[in-house]
Amino acid sequence: MAQAEFLVVGGGIAGLSAAARLAAQGRVVVLEAEDAVGYHSSGRSATFAHYGIGNRPVRGMTSYSRAVFQAPPEGFADVPLARQTPALFVANEAMLPVLDALEAEMARFTDTIARVDEAEIRALCPVLRFGGEATVAGVVDRGGLRLDSDALLQGYARAVRGAGGEVSTGRRIASVRKAGSDWEVVDGKGDRWSAPVLIDAAGAWADGLAEMAGVRPLGLTPLRRTIIVVDPPEGVDARGWPFVKTAADEFYMLPEGGKLMASPVDEIEDVPGDASPEEYDVALAAHRAEQWTTLEVRRIQHRWAGLRTFSADRVPVAGFAPDAPGFFWLAGQGGFGLQTAPAMALATEALILGREWPAELAALSVERDDITPDRLVSA
Ligand SMILES: Cc1cc2nc3c(=O)[nH]c(=O)nc-3n(C[C@H](O)[C@H](O)[C@H](O)COP(=O)(O)OP(=O)(O)OC[C@H]3O[C@@H](n4cnc5c(N)ncnc54)[C@H](O)[C@@H]3O)c2cc1C
Repeated sequence: MAQAEFLVVGGGIAGLSAAARLAAQGRVVVLEAEDAVGYHSSGRSATFAHYGIGNRPVRGMTSYSRAVFQAPPEGFADVPLARQTPALFVANEAMLPVLDALEAEMARFTDTIARVDEAEIRALCPVLRFGGEATVAGVVDRGGLRLDSDALLQGYARAVRGAGGEVSTGRRIASVRKAGSDWEVVDGKGDRWSAPVLIDAAGAWADGLAEMAGVRPLGLTPLRRTIIVVDPPEGVDARGWPFVKTAADEFYMLPEGGKLMASPVDEIEDVPGDASPEEYDVALAAHRAEQWTTLEVRRIQHRWAGLRTFSADRVPVAGFAPDAPGFFWLAGQGGFGLQTAPAMALATEALILGREWPAELAALSVERDDITPDRLVSA
C-alpha cells in the first residue's frame, strides 16, 4: 500500500493542474487509467480560450486563467502556452438578439471586443458567407487565446514530478473504500494507494467513481461533441484566420496547422467511454461549414469526438462531498475545462487546505458557493 497526502484519480487537465498546485503541500499521486495523460477530453478539445462560452463563474475563471497561460511560472514549459488569436462571433438575422446578449456578457470581462462590419469580417475570415441563413453581423474579441493543450498537460505533469509527486498511467481504479480516516483505492492490477484526501477528477467517469466509493453522484451529463478537419480553398493560407463561432450554438471553425477544424457544436448525450464520431454529426459539420462559409467540403481529412461533461447548472464543481469527508469533487468542466484549469486548480488548493477563498477569484465575481458541490447534493 503506497501512502500519499492527496490521491488524484484522472490524469486530464483537471487532475493534473490541481495536482501541480497541491504537490508543494504534500505527496501527490495522480492515477490515470490510460497509458497516456490527456487521452480523453483533454486531448480532444478545440484548445481555445474565449469569453463566448459559459456563464458568470466560467467567464470569471477564464479571465483569471488567461493571465496564467500568458505568463506561466518560470520553467513551466519551453514553448508558449497560448497564442493570441481573435475570436469572431457571427450571427444571422435569427441570432441577432443572441449576439447582442453575448456582446453585453463578454463586455463585463474584457475591453478587447468590438462590433465588426462586413468588410472587417471579410478581412478577418474571407470565406464567411453573408446574408440569407448566414452572417449579417459580427463581434470580435481580439484577445482570444489558442492554447497548446499538450504543453499544458506535460507542464503540469512535470511540475507534479518536480515537486516529488507521481503521475502514474495505466492505473484504472477498480475499487474505492474508506478505511479509518483514509481513502484506499485499488487498480485493476491489484496495486493499492491510500490517502486522507481523494480527488475525483475522472471527467466523464466522475459520478461512476463516486458511486464506487459509496458517495452520492452529482448527476453529471457527458455530452459528445464532433470535430472534422478539412482543407481550406486551394492556395489559401488560413493560418491567420480567427476562431469563428456562431452566436447561437450552430457552428465553429478555426485554423489547425494549414487546415481547418470545424464543429456543428453538437451536444449529444452519451455514456462515459472512448467517444467516437457518428456519421450524422460528421455530415452535419460539413453541411454547416458549407452553410456558414463558401468552403466546399470535398474530403474530410480527419474526424474525432470527445465528451464534455456538465453539471446541471453548467458550472464546474470543486469541493468536498457533503456526504463523504475527504472525498473531493473536481468535475463538470464541460466545454471550458482547459480555459478554466488554472482557476479551478487555485480554488481546489484553497478548498482542500481550508484557506480563505482566493481574492483573485472573488475579484472576478467567482464565489466559493458557485462551484462547491453543496449546490447539487446535500449532506
Ligand atoms: C470536441 C471538444 C472541444 C472542446 N473545446 C474546448 C476548448 O476549446 N476550450 C476548453 O477550455 N475546453 C474545451 N473542451 C472541454 C475540455 O476538453 C474538457 O472540459 C476538459 O478536457 C475536461 O478535463 P478533465 O480532466 O475533467 O477530463 P478528462 O481529460 O477526460 O480526464 C479524466 C481522466 O480520468 C481518467 N479516469 C476515469 N476513470 C478512471 C479510473 N477509474 N481510474 C483512473 N483514471 C480514470 C480518464 O481516463 C481520463 O483521462 C472541449 C471538449 C471537446 C470534447
